[in-house]
Amino acid sequence: MLPEKDIYEVAIVGAGVCGTALLYTLSNYTNVNKIALLEKNQAVALVNSHQNSNSQTLHFGDIETNYTLAKARKVNLAASLVKNYLLRYDPQQEIYTKYHKMVLAVGKEQTEQIRKRYQEFKQLFPELRLIERQEIQSIEPKVLQGRDTEEEILALYTPEGYTVDFQKLAQSFVNNALNISNKTIELMMGTKVKKIETKEDLLYIQMDRKTIAAKAVAVTAGAHSLLLAKSMGYGQNYALLSVAGSFYFAPEMLNGKVYTVQLQKLPFAAIHGDPEVHDRRHTRFGPTAKVLPMLERHNYSTVWEYLQTAGLSLAAFKSFWKILSDPVIFKYILKNFIYDLPFIGKRLFIEEVRHIIPSIKLSELQFAKGYGGIRPQIIDLKSQSLEMGEAKIVGDRILFNITPSPGASTCLQNAQDDTRRLISFLGEEYTFDQERFLADLASDELCQSQSV
Ligand SMILES: Cc1cc2nc3c(=O)[nH]c(=O)nc-3n(C[C@H](O)[C@H](O)[C@H](O)COP(=O)(O)OP(=O)(O)OC[C@H]3O[C@@H](n4cnc5c(N)ncnc54)[C@H](O)[C@@H]3O)c2cc1C
Repeated sequence: MLPEKDIYEVAIVGAGVCGTALLYTLSNYTNVNKIALLEKNQAVALVNSHQNSNSQTLHFGDIETNYTLAKARKVNLAASLVKNYLLRYDPQQEIYTKYHKMVLAVGKEQTEQIRKRYQEFKQLFPELRLIERQEIQSIEPKVLQGRDTEEEILALYTPEGYTVDFQKLAQSFVNNALNISNKTIELMMGTKVKKIETKEDLLYIQMDRKTIAAKAVAVTAGAHSLLLAKSMGYGQNYALLSVAGSFYFAPEMLNGKVYTVQLQKLPFAAIHGDPEVHDRRHTRFGPTAKVLPMLERHNYSTVWEYLQTAGLSLAAFKSFWKILSDPVIFKYILKNFIYDLPFIGKRLFIEEVRHIIPSIKLSELQFAKGYGGIRPQIIDLKSQSLEMGEAKIVGDRILFNITPSPGASTCLQNAQDDTRRLISFLGEEYTFDQERFLADLASDELCQSQSV
C-alpha cells in the first residue's frame, strides 16, 4: 500500500515535447490537481525533441510533397496550435525564428507535379505561391548560382515558415505548468520507468528507485512507448522500423528553408536545407534516413530494447521483408545508409545538396557529428505496411504515443486529444475547458472544425 503522497491523478511518462505539452494542457485547462511527470534523463527533451536531433521545422503540410491534402489539413490545424502558442508566449523569439520556405522542383516531371499540387493545395494554404526562376533568384540567390540555364525550375513558396527549438518549447510548457500555483506538479527527473501494472483502481509505476501510482497514465516516451505498451500486453500488432536521421553542415547559404520534392511512398520529410534556428550563419542539410536497430540514437543500451520492441516473430519478419523489398524503399534506404559513411558518404550526399545549391564545394560540407535522432516509424503487422505518422494505443486508463515526424509539430493537438481521453478515464467530476484551450491557441477555422 502506497502513502497518499505517492498517488497521483495523472502520471506522464517521458518529458519530450509531447509529454510536456500534455503537462501544460492538463495543468492549465483541466481540474486535475495532482500530476507527475517522469523522465529518465536529468532534463526535459534531451532525446528526439532536442535541438540537435530533429529538423526544427514546424510542419504545416504546405510544402511537404509526400502529404496528401487530407494529411496536410490535419497537420496544418495541429501546427497552428504550436504557432499560436509561440506567438503568445515567445514575443522575444527565443524559441523560434521565422523564415520563408519553398519546395524546389527541378526538371519537367517535378515542375508539372508542383503545378498540379498548387492547384489542389492553394485553398488550404492561401499564402502559397508558385514562383518562377527570377523570383527564386531574388529570394535565394545561391539556388540559381551555377545552375544550368536550360534546367527547368519552379518553386512553391510561402512566407509562413517557422524554425523551432523544440527543446526550448518543451521547457516553456513546463514553466507554464509550474506557474499554476494551486496544483501539485511533481517533476521526477533522472528516473527510468521500468514497469507499469494495473491493480484494481490504480496503475502502479515502478521506477529505478521508487514506485508511485496514478489513476490514469499517459506514456509519451517516443519509441519506448511501444516497449512499455507491449510489456503490458498492448500494441501486439505493431513493430518499429527505427529510421535514424543525420545532418550535414555548411556555411551561410540560404535565407530560408528550401525543400526538395519527396517521393509519395516515404513517410519522412524530404532532404532540405535551412539556416539554424538560433544562428543563420550555419546552414543545415538533411535529414538522411538510415535504418538502425535502436530505440534512441547514440544510446547503444537501447539495441536490446529495440529487439524486444520489434518482437522478432514471423509476422514481424514478413512485414519487414515486404516493406524493405519494395524497390523504391530499398534503393532509398541503401543510398541513405551510405550517406552516413565516412569519406564516401559526403561525396554521395553532396549530389543531393546540389539539387538545392548547385555550386556547393565538397570542402564546404561537413558531417554533423553527434547530431540526429531516430524516427520510430510504425509497422502494422496485420497489413504488413509502413504507417505514415504517429500511433496511439489506448488501454485501460492508460494511453501510449509513438511519435515519428512530424510529432513535434503536432504536440499540442496530441495533448488536446490525450487530455480528452484522460479526463474520460478519470470520471465525471473531471473537466477539460476545451473552449478556453481553443480560444487561447486555435485559429477560427480550428475552433469551427472542433466546435466544442
Ligand atoms: C531526424 C529527425 C528529424 C525530425 N524533424 C522534425 C521536424 O522538423 N518537425 C517535427 O515536427 N518533427 C520532427 N521530427 C520528429 C520529432 O523530433 C518527434 O516527433 C518529437 O520530438 C517526439 O517528441 P516526444 O516527446 O514524443 O519524444 P522524445 O522527444 O523522444 O521524448 C521522449 C522522452 O521519453 C523519455 N523516456 C523514454 N523511456 C522512458 C522511460 N522508460 N522512463 C522515463 N522516461 C522515458 C526519453 O528520455 C525522452 O525524454 C524529427 C525526428 C528526427 C529523428
